[in-house]
Order: sequence, then C-alpha cells, then structure tokens
Amino acid sequence: MTPSPSPILAPRVTGLQARRCLRHTTREAAARCPGCAEFFCRECVVEHDGKLLCAPCLARQATRARERRERWRGARRTARAAAGVAALWLVFYGIGALLLKIPPELHDGTVWKKLSEASSR
Ligand SMILES: [Zn+2]
Ligand SMILES: [Zn+2]
Repeated sequence: MTPSPSPILAPRVTGLQARRCLRHTTREAAARCPGCAEFFCRECVVEHDGKLLCAPCLARQATRARERRERWRGARRTARAAAGVAALWLVFYGIGALLLKIPPELHDGTVWKKLSEASSR
C-alpha cells in the first residue's frame, strides 16, 4: 500500500495549473479542449467560435461543418428540382383545367350563336 496519493486521484488537482499539456509534458496547460476534454498549452489550442480547440478537434469540426454545408447544398438542389416539377405540374394542371372548362359547344361552333342570342335578348 502506498500512503502518498496519486496526483490523478488527489481531490484538489483539477486546476489548470496542475495540468500539463498533452503533447508538451513540461508545459503547463492553458486550456482544456471541449472536444476531447484533454489539456493543452497555449500553443496547442486554436481559438474557434470563442472556444479553444486542439488541432485534431478543430480539423474534425471543420470537416463536419463542410459535410453539413454540402448536405445542405444537396438538399437545396433537391428542393429546387422539386419546386420546378411542382411548377411544371401546376402549369399543366392549369392547362388541363382550362381545357375542361371549354364548353363542348365551342367545337361544333354553336357556342357563338348561343352567345349572340343571349346578348341580343
Ligand atoms: Zn480536442
Ligand atoms: Zn502543447
């Protein structure tokens, strides 16, 4: 049994000063990366969106943002195509409805006669 407590289990060693950079064991940690919860020195973290991230987490976040952007662009393209199809369908539907509204008398030429009779009356 060892009476001296290990530094990891010691209760009050959670401050940054007690931590060392993950990559530079001789340097004190300046920030904790919110992405991987590891401690890094000032040189190992990059500020991004008001947060201090380590390089791998920053790269990961950048890829994720790009993927999201690309997915969004694809969705927008699909929506635009769907809107185009819908517009085309509406146009054809309108034409169809218009054609259905044309009375059959128009085709045998009696519609004009009927109309003139109605106006003369
Ligand atoms: Zn990280
Ligand atoms: Zn470092």
